[in-house]
Amino acid sequence: MKARKFQNSKTMAKRSRKAKQFYKDGIRFECRGSGRCCTSRGIYGFIYLNLAERRDLAKHLETSTLQFTKRYCDKADGFFYLKDPDKDCRFLINNQCGVYEARPLQCRTWPFWPENMNTRTWEREVAPFCAGVGKGKLYTSEEITRIIDMHNSQDLVI
Ligand code: SF4
Repeated sequence: MKARKFQNSKTMAKRSRKAKQFYKDGIRFECRGSGRCCTSRGIYGFIYLNLAERRDLAKHLETSTLQFTKRYCDKADGFFYLKDPDKDCRFLINNQCGVYEARPLQCRTWPFWPENMNTRTWEREVAPFCAGVGKGKLYTSEEITRIIDMHNSQDLVI
């Protein structure tokens, strides 16, 4: 999964206006199960987890949040993320997510992340990388905006 970048509200509002033009007619996307977004791409390998997500994953794996965090997470600049972002996600098994029902927001909402939703990034990085772009369900601009808003309001700290 690609790393999330954190932006101030002015930057986000400006980008949001441009972004709305970019996806005003909606975008088709359907996961093709390539597993590519779960494999390592160096600095793009970070999967951030807030407390609720760590709780859900811990419950799914039948362990405590503390044990889950110790075993599977590292922390930098106040943000927890899954260990070893330079390797394939440790929950990826035979190209399938082993924690699918409890996978974090970042995984659930690929590829509609705020930092992806501009023409340049979409055309250069997202569309050529992900086989699901342009296929399947049409996400309306309203649906995409809702997903972006969800990301922007997500509390990733502690
Ligand atoms: S948690 Fe699941 S969906 Fe998210 S990167 Fe890992 S294998 Fe992929």
